[in-house]
Amino acid sequence: MATTVAPQMQNSVSEFVAKPRKMLIGGKWVDSVSGKSFETYNPATGEILARVAEADKADIDLAVKAARRAFESGPWPEMSPSERGRLLWKLAELVDKYHEELAELETLDNGKPVFFSRIVDIPTVSDAFRYYAGWATKVEGSTIPISAPDAKYLAYTLREPIGVVGQIIPWNFPLVMASMKLGPALAVGCTCVLKPAEQTPLSALRLGELIMEAGFPDGVVNIVPGFGETAGAALAAHSDVDKVAFTGSTEVGKLVLNAASGNLKKVSLELGGKSPNVVLQDADLESAIPASATAIFFNQGEVCAAGSRLFAHKSIFDKVVGGVADVAKSFKIGPGIDPASNMGPLVSKEQQERVCSYLESGAKDGAKAVVGGKRVNGPGYFVEPTVLVDVKPTMKVVREEIFGPVVTAIPFGDLDEVAGFANDSIYGLASAVWTRDISKAHLLAKKLKAGTVWINCYHVFDSALPFGGYKQSGWGREWGKPALDLYTEAKSVCARL
Ligand code: NAP
Ligand code: MG
Repeated sequence: MATTVAPQMQNSVSEFVAKPRKMLIGGKWVDSVSGKSFETYNPATGEILARVAEADKADIDLAVKAARRAFESGPWPEMSPSERGRLLWKLAELVDKYHEELAELETLDNGKPVFFSRIVDIPTVSDAFRYYAGWATKVEGSTIPISAPDAKYLAYTLREPIGVVGQIIPWNFPLVMASMKLGPALAVGCTCVLKPAEQTPLSALRLGELIMEAGFPDGVVNIVPGFGETAGAALAAHSDVDKVAFTGSTEVGKLVLNAASGNLKKVSLELGGKSPNVVLQDADLESAIPASATAIFFNQGEVCAAGSRLFAHKSIFDKVVGGVADVAKSFKIGPGIDPASNMGPLVSKEQQERVCSYLESGAKDGAKAVVGGKRVNGPGYFVEPTVLVDVKPTMKVVREEIFGPVVTAIPFGDLDEVAGFANDSIYGLASAVWTRDISKAHLLAKKLKAGTVWINCYHVFDSALPFGGYKQSGWGREWGKPALDLYTEAKSVCARL
C-alpha cells in the first residue's frame, strides 16, 4: 500500500514518490542492469513510500566508467574554476527554489519533523553548495624556494583534483550528507559516484535532477541507490575509483577501509560517536538544561555528534537530569510531516529494534530510566526520549553508540575526573562544556579528545567549520577548507632554470 500523503503536502512530492525512481548514470535516468528495485518506507507509518532502482556491482561499474569519462574528457576538465563555481551556485539556488518540496521529501523518507527539515537540513544544503562554489576559484598551490646548490630552480606546487570519487552516505541527514560530500569534490574538479543509504535515497535522487537542471555535464555526478553490502562494497573496492569518502558506522568504516586497500585509493571516514556533554557547577542552567536535551534528542538522537553521555557536577546533577527529563516529557511525538510534531520516528524498524535492545540491556545492567525507556506502541518506528541514571562506565549503554534518543547521565566531582570520564571512549567526535568560568572552559577544551568542542552551545555546525573525529570517529575533516584537501592531490613541479 502506498503511503497516505498528508493533505498539506506539495503535489510535486506525491508525484515524485508515486513514480518508480531510476538511478542517474552518465546524465541519464536508468533502471538497474539486473532490473531489480527496492522499496523505501515511511517510518511514521511503516507503509511503503516509493520504489527505487537497486544498483549492484554492474551498475557501480557503469557509474564509475561514466565518472571516469567525464573526468578525463568532455566539458568538465575544460571548465574554468569560475564556471564550476557558477554551477555550484546555480545548484544552491535550485535547492532554495525547491526548498519546501525537498524538506517534505526528506521528512517522509527519514521521519524527522518537517519543521527541522525546513529550518536545518535544506538551508544547510544550499549553504554548503554556495560555500564550496566560492572555493572553486581559490584552490591554490605555492611557490617554494629550494636550496639545491648546483643551479637555480623554480619550484611550485599544484593542487589537482584526485579523480573519480566514491561517496557513501548514511540516512540521518541524507541531503546534508550528500552536499558535504559533493560540494568540495565538485569545487576542485572531481567527478562523483554517490551512494545514498538504502533507507533514504529519495532526496539524493531529486538532487540528481537539480544537478542536471543546473547544467553539470553528463557523468560528473552519478547517483546509485542500493544496499551497502552490494553497491557500497563494490564502490569502495572499485579499482578505478581514486578516493572513497564514507560517512556511517565505525564498523562499516573498517570494511570500507579494507575494501579500499586493493588499489590503495585514498580514504576519508566520518564515523560514530559517544559524545560527552559536560555541565560544570557554575553553568547557566537556564541555557544548559534545554540545550543538553537538544544535544541528545535533536533528530531523534540520530546524530553522530549527539550528546549521548551527559556529565553533570554532583551538586547540580539532580536539577540537570530532572530538567532534561522534563523537556523529554514535553515533546509531541508524531509523524514528521505533521507540523505539530517536534519528535519523529526513528528511520527504520531495524533502528527502532536496535535502540530498544540497548534500552533492555541498560535495564538488565541496573540502569534506571528517569523518563522514557521503551518504544511507543502503534504503527511507525517511534521510541520514547529516554534519560538513564545509575549507570556505570562499563555498561554497554555508556560505551556503545545507540544512535537514538537515549542519554546516560553521570555525576562527577572535579575537572580531572570528568575529563577522564569524557575521554574514556573509543570515539572522539564531539563534546561540550557548560560553564561561566572562561578558564575552566578552555582548560577542559584542551583536555577533551574530540574533533569538536562546543562551549556553552551544542550542535552548532557550519559549512566553514571543519568537522571530523579523533580516535575511531574517523579520518580527515569535512566542511571548511580541509575538505578540499580530501579531494585534491598535491603535485610538486621543479624546473631547472
Ligand atoms: P552504516 O550502516 O554504516 O551505513 C552507512 C552507509 O554505508 C550506507 O550507505 C550503507 O548502505 C553503506 N554500507 C553498509 N555496508 C557497507 C559495506 N560493506 N561497504 C560499503 N558501504 C556499506 O551506517 P548507518 O546505519 O547508515 O548510519 C548510522 C551511523 O553513521 C552511526 O554510527 C553514526 O554515528 C554514523 N554517522 C556519522 C557521521 C559523521 O559525520 N561522523 C554522520 C552521520 C552518521 P545501506 O544503506 O544499504 O546500509
Ligand atoms: Mg546499513
